[in-house]
Amino acid sequence: MDPRLAAIVSLGAFVALALVFWLLLGRARGATKRLAYRVFLFSLALGIVALGRAYGLFARASLPFDLALATTIILVVIGNLYAVRFCSRCGRMHRNFKATACSRCGDPLPRHGFTEEPRRAPLDPTDPLGRRKRTLPKK
Ligand SMILES: [Zn+2]
Repeated sequence: MDPRLAAIVSLGAFVALALVFWLLLGRARGATKRLAYRVFLFSLALGIVALGRAYGLFARASLPFDLALATTIILVVIGNLYAVRFCSRCGRMHRNFKATACSRCGDPLPRHGFTEEPRRAPLDPTDPLGRRKRTLPKK
């Protein structure tokens, strides 16, 4: 095994770990961290597939298996991109989808991971269907 390869792999692992910690705790604009998270997730998925290809995992795989694997990877990446939200103001990562405000700065969180729009109105917690809170008409 080439000794340079071990150095490159360990440097790549260090950079990936530093990126994960920055995504979790660092302070930056939400849009910046959202873009970095997208690039990180797609490159991680591509890296896993490239590693599998380098070890000959797909040498005798059939086309349906390849399609099923590609569909699964794409769905997992899209699901993560949807569920993970970043505060637009301070950039803190939130994976709790029920939270409506940032735990660090209190700013309203985006509706989901693909937008910066906050939720419109708080939902009524006593309504089992989760409809918007109704206000009584003024007389
Ligand atoms: Zn925040």
